Amino acid sequence: MSWPTWLPLRKELTPLTPYGAPQIPAQASLNTNENPYSPSPALQKAIAEAVLGVAAKLNRYPDRDANELRSKLAGYINSTSQMKFTLDNIWAANGSNEIIQSIFLAFGQGSALGFTPSYSMHPLIAKVCGTTWIDGRRNADFSLNVEMATKQIAETKPVLTFITTPNNPTGGSVSISQIKLLADAVAQVGGLLIVDEAYAEFSSEQSAVTLIANNPHVVVIRTMSKAFAFAGARLGYLVSDSSVKDAMMLVRLPYHLSALTQAAASVAIDFKDELLGYVSELIQARESLTAQLHALGLATVPSSANFILFTGFSVDAPKLWDELLGQGVLIRDVGLPGYLRVTVGNEAENTLFISALKELI
Ligand SMILES: *Cc1c(COP(=O)(O)O)cnc(C)c1O
Repeated sequence: MSWPTWLPLRKELTPLTPYGAPQIPAQASLNTNENPYSPSPALQKAIAEAVLGVAAKLNRYPDRDANELRSKLAGYINSTSQMKFTLDNIWAANGSNEIIQSIFLAFGQGSALGFTPSYSMHPLIAKVCGTTWIDGRRNADFSLNVEMATKQIAETKPVLTFITTPNNPTGGSVSISQIKLLADAVAQVGGLLIVDEAYAEFSSEQSAVTLIANNPHVVVIRTMSKAFAFAGARLGYLVSDSSVKDAMMLVRLPYHLSALTQAAASVAIDFKDELLGYVSELIQARESLTAQLHALGLATVPSSANFILFTGFSVDAPKLWDELLGQGVLIRDVGLPGYLRVTVGNEAENTLFISALKELI
């Protein structure tokens, strides 16, 4: 991108390109790890009623701190982790990307470390917020090398260390004992360990929220965009020691979370059993898709999320991506040479993907 010389854009932004998973209409949209199942008619109606309930008060600002919603989120996390969090351990925002940005605004003085390849927004938000990003490495099979990681934490002393588990775009997860080792290394250098658990509900590993009580350096990021099937509403949150939440309140914009969002998200949590009901179906479909990819002679990276990174095709990844799109199947080229990522869709989408792929490889 070339910027006009008169535009006083911050220098560190000039080489950047905006986040841009292509939003192209396709028969099978398998590119952004959304949940393919839309809200049931009962949930749609409950959301509409809740929105109607706040519509009459839209002349007033919303609850600035989203207290009721944060209490409900704490209840949800407690129900899955046997912990005793309250709203003081939760901060909510417009998607977990806003949470990530707030973390940088509050704590991003110095450097941030992450282990590549991982979620591309961590380094991008770091750069936008003026924090130096350090690319840590992984094993050749994309698993996290904890020994190498703890060494790098000790050497570079980042204020923020990011891990994503299950990792996007590779799909593997980090065990709780490994996260604990990282948390100890981060505590030694006085930083925070940010554990992005966007796909936690698809994984059988214990959540890092269970470490927070004994290690306040651990901050866990969650989202309703993936397993919760609520990407369009934009609701992300963190689970942390209350002091981290207090710092979030310094950097948040006043009334950042609209009354409409708070009302809709609150209803979605009431319907959590229905929404999360598709998780086991999607895990089964992931296993079936993996087997079908193997049957086509392709290799996959073991995934505990709702997507699969695959390789072993002879054409270039961008070419195969484009040819699949020509067949109505939109998947993701994550920029790893020789690899493509496919989100697990519904049965019709998965069938279309496999039959199109069969013809193209
Ligand atoms: C999808 C995703 C997010 C979610 O972002 P939202 O802003 O909550 O939609 C966060 N982290 C990772 C690793 C993701 O893949």
